[in-house]
Amino acid sequence: MAAEQFAVFGHPIAHSLSPRIHHAFARQLGITLEFRAIDAAPDGFAAAVQSFFAGGGIGANVTLPHKGAAYALAAERSVAAARVGAANVLTRLADGRLAAHNTDGAGLVRDITARHHEDLHVHRALLLGAGGAARGVAWNLLDAGVQSLVIANRSPLKAEQLAAATGAQGQVHARGWNQLTEAGSFDLIVNATSAGVLGTPLRLPDSLMGAHALCYDLAYGPAASSFLGWARAAGARQALDGLGMLVETAADAFLLWHDHRPDTEPVYQRLRTDTV
Ligand code: NDP
Repeated sequence: MAAEQFAVFGHPIAHSLSPRIHHAFARQLGITLEFRAIDAAPDGFAAAVQSFFAGGGIGANVTLPHKGAAYALAAERSVAAARVGAANVLTRLADGRLAAHNTDGAGLVRDITARHHEDLHVHRALLLGAGGAARGVAWNLLDAGVQSLVIANRSPLKAEQLAAATGAQGQVHARGWNQLTEAGSFDLIVNATSAGVLGTPLRLPDSLMGAHALCYDLAYGPAASSFLGWARAAGARQALDGLGMLVETAADAFLLWHDHRPDTEPVYQRLRTDTV
């Protein structure tokens, strides 16, 4: 019997860890599958997805810059995808149409709370960035117990739009980047900007750092080193990168497709040894 087909779509995608993660999960559960990385430029994304699923593909992860386009392609959308307006998981339904889901926020929360045993019932949280990843995690941070959330973005309008979209008036506030010096200090600072990936260091005032702050960068590997270096130097109690989030979001997609949630810890530990 031919192996079931899965893929991750992105642009660029060559360095994606998703094939390695999904193959490791599959080995753990005795499942035979093929998981490919497919590079699709924005103007070829829809056709590449349609061709993959028409050829028997069962499920796909979607990463930059296609999460919005993936959401638009789907006929059914989970609550998590609908509130974000973007999807990182596509699954073929029995009738051939596609279902969209978003596992980014759940993956972040599970990594912080279950792996690192940190409590998200914090008083003041700061979310840096208002792009796709920030949208993907904002609601989950609130659901997990963050009491007040400041969303700061270089383009303030996007921060305002995301704050408004959460519908949590009075609990979520938008700030422009140049207002950070007056923003006070925070118990949790989440970096969801792409500055690290783009190689442009963030300039953040040390006054943001609360006395026992947890700092988390959604990026991992060298892309996280600038923000995490700032966090440690400014006195963060804990500074974490997004490798665990990546593994947890993959495990949620795996659960959707195979009805089993793999044990993420050995896969995470192996990647941690190899990548950082
Ligand atoms: P987007 O392109 O959608 O958004 C980028 C965001 O970063 C925008 O808010 C942008 O601000 C901001 N930004 C970019 N450069 C700078 C800078 N120099 N200074 C300040 N702000 C800046 O990207 P994503 O949201 O999809 O991805 C963000 C990060 O999250 C990436 O590092 C990605 O790898 C990571 N990620 C990790 C995941 C994981 O599983 N660990 C999952 C998903 C994402 P503006 O709006 O003003 O342009």
